[in-house]
Amino acid sequence: SVVVLGSANLDLVYEVDRIPAPGETVLSRGFEAFPGGKGNNQAIAAARAGADVSFIVALGRDSAADRLAEQATGAGIHLLDRRAGAPTGSAIIFVDRRGENSIVVNSGANAELVDLTAAELRDIASAGVLVLQLETPIATVEAAVRAAKATDTAVVLNAAPSGAVPAELLGQIDILVVNEHEAAELAGEPDGTGERSLLSVLTGHGCAVIITLGADGALVGVPGESPVRVAALKVDAKDTTGAGDAFVGAFAAALDRAERSADLSALVEATEFATAAAALAVQRKGAVPSIPTLEEVRKFREA
Ligand code: ADP
Repeated sequence: SVVVLGSANLDLVYEVDRIPAPGETVLSRGFEAFPGGKGNNQAIAAARAGADVSFIVALGRDSAADRLAEQATGAGIHLLDRRAGAPTGSAIIFVDRRGENSIVVNSGANAELVDLTAAELRDIASAGVLVLQLETPIATVEAAVRAAKATDTAVVLNAAPSGAVPAELLGQIDILVVNEHEAAELAGEPDGTGERSLLSVLTGHGCAVIITLGADGALVGVPGESPVRVAALKVDAKDTTGAGDAFVGAFAAALDRAERSADLSALVEATEFATAAAALAVQRKGAVPSIPTLEEVRKFREA
């Protein structure tokens, strides 16, 4: 099974001709509110990809929370939610004509995801894969990693949004998944540093590393072995919002099905599956609505 611990937000998505520069006002061409948040999106992506998923999350006491809970439950997720005093997290997302996006997040209730219960820690310890991101207090991420390491739960950290991660934490996780920008930030290198050198810095912490490269696919590496490049699939991208989340959730589901999840070959195979899921997702609008099912990914890969 897969346990996702992370954020849930209501995403307010504005379609714009171009993303406003500082001081600029632009008119929206369209607006929609979607349930989102990296944890929520990854939990749904893992469930649609066929995994048995539990989702540990903090929601507010508001209608956004009810909407998120209803969607997660509807996706077959075992929802382990707590209701916080703060409002449910929210995000404002601009999507331009080329499908590029720009995002502001208000953490809200997500900042109150602290003090994991004994039952939650047991769920983590008995899972095949634990999936974490950085929209949750870092002390909670660390407590979850400790519970996972007490057994052989594989820990996947999607170090997003971009930010610092204690080196000690990187040394304890099994698989780090980051985009190029997050990889550069974590490696302490400028943006534009080659992905192979970023990968070698990051695998230096002892974990496997997957750097996603948008339309250029992904680079997969484990300490001491040559990295493997997985090409992206050529598709007409309409909205790349949540591409990384679709990728991480599908990756976790594939990893949970693999027998030897620490092997480079198993990581490459899970990356190929996740690449197909993400390629389907970027062709459709929205983060969650665009996440494909296992059936859709299989058909797409056979075609
Ligand atoms: P993030 O959304 O976190 O910035 P990326 O942009 O690297 O992450 O995208 C994650 C994955 O989604 C990529 O590794 C790739 O498989 C897929 N993807 C993203 N953009 C495209 C695209 N334009 N065409 C095909 N696949 C894409």
